[in-house]
Amino acid sequence: AHLDRIAETDGKVHAFLHVDTEGALAQARRVDEAVKAGEQVSPLAGVPLALKDVMTTEGVPTTVGSKILEGWIPPYDATVTRRLKEAGVVILGKTNMDEFAMGSSTENSAYGPTHNPWDLDRIPGGSGGGSSAALAALQAPLAIGTDTGGSIRQPGAVTGTVGVKPTYGGVSRYGLVAFSSSLDQAGPCARTVLDAALLHEVIAGYDHMDSTSINAPVPPVVAAAREGLSGDLSGLRIGVVTQFTGEGYQQGVLRSFEAAVSQLKELGAEIADVSCPSFDYALPAYYLIAPSECSSNLARFDAMRYGLRVGDDGTRSTEEVMSLTREAGFGAEVKRRIMIGTYALSSGYYDAYYGSAQKVRTLITQDFAKAFEKFDVLISPTTPTTAFKIGERANDPMAMYKADLCTIPANLAGTPAMSVPSGLSDEDGMPVGLQIMAPALQDHRMYRVAAAYE
Ligand code: GLN
Repeated sequence: AHLDRIAETDGKVHAFLHVDTEGALAQARRVDEAVKAGEQVSPLAGVPLALKDVMTTEGVPTTVGSKILEGWIPPYDATVTRRLKEAGVVILGKTNMDEFAMGSSTENSAYGPTHNPWDLDRIPGGSGGGSSAALAALQAPLAIGTDTGGSIRQPGAVTGTVGVKPTYGGVSRYGLVAFSSSLDQAGPCARTVLDAALLHEVIAGYDHMDSTSINAPVPPVVAAAREGLSGDLSGLRIGVVTQFTGEGYQQGVLRSFEAAVSQLKELGAEIADVSCPSFDYALPAYYLIAPSECSSNLARFDAMRYGLRVGDDGTRSTEEVMSLTREAGFGAEVKRRIMIGTYALSSGYYDAYYGSAQKVRTLITQDFAKAFEKFDVLISPTTPTTAFKIGERANDPMAMYKADLCTIPANLAGTPAMSVPSGLSDEDGMPVGLQIMAPALQDHRMYRVAAAYE
């Protein structure tokens, strides 16, 4: 049924870059047989899922939305992919994304934009717009995203779906094509909080293949989501981050947020304002740190190791082939980031740019720590605006970057954060998201609040 739904709707939505019909049906048959044989199967066995094309899949193309990996077939599964398969999850295919996960609209994909199922003229968010659009278009009940600066939560918010960035290190990065390694984190996307929690427990947990994987028990997110469904938040202390309002925020988004605050109060939560002054510098710090790490990570696309190779006709030097390949294979945003990152890391500028950004990162972590002394979770709108029109910000990188104002602090601090649907804006009728943030390894706290609110 989901493959049929994709066939019917994806001509308009373009959530998928690759549909793996054969692989999906084979996995579904395996689960059917296991069930018939009376074997114990995992809770998500047989449930279809849309996988962001940033995760390697053995024998199935993985492009990361880039021409530079066109035609590359990975010889191995990412840990996330492997865990999904082991749980009997049916991977329907690979979803569209901004090239190398750089963007907030999925317009930076080398394979054309994804459209928001709520209004096909609008963006589905980014970089994981394909995964969220697949959920909103009822093409899949579960999806995987990755969140470096908001790429799970912002697409979740603007498509009316649930998106979770777990604690950094909570889900293995092995086989997740790197953008900014100290920020990248994979997480679950779904249409309900409990579905996200079930998926979270399948993909999370220690992995010796990732040096930043946390060797600690997976936070009990399913139990917390179930507890939240009772709708009682009495005694829970919620902080409203005062930095996330004002200029650049749509009135419809702010009114939806006010309504969410009232609803959480009715559920018994104690709510007060909290100021995190260094969050004002999160966006500039992120746009130095992320490009710096990207300029280093993307050096591996050298025309020799993977995918595309241009101009290799026996007359050119290695350097010329590398340069022609990178010129043809990378899009404008990726080139912009490589250049910014190379500049920020270069000798003489390193302290002024990269070094300062790292100091801001520490201040942000300290602001979170102080706020969590008084509050169990923090909340804000997930995004300043609802989904904008396709093309509206495509030539204005600064306007595009502002889509991540509220999401970036949690990436810089490594703390978990999620977006849960918060109704429709009374301005344009488009979905709005409520962001819930928790301390590191306390992912379950935000699931409890989200399930109660949902
Ligand atoms: N939109 C942000 C960026 O362009 C975040 C991307 C992400 O989380 N992968 O970098």
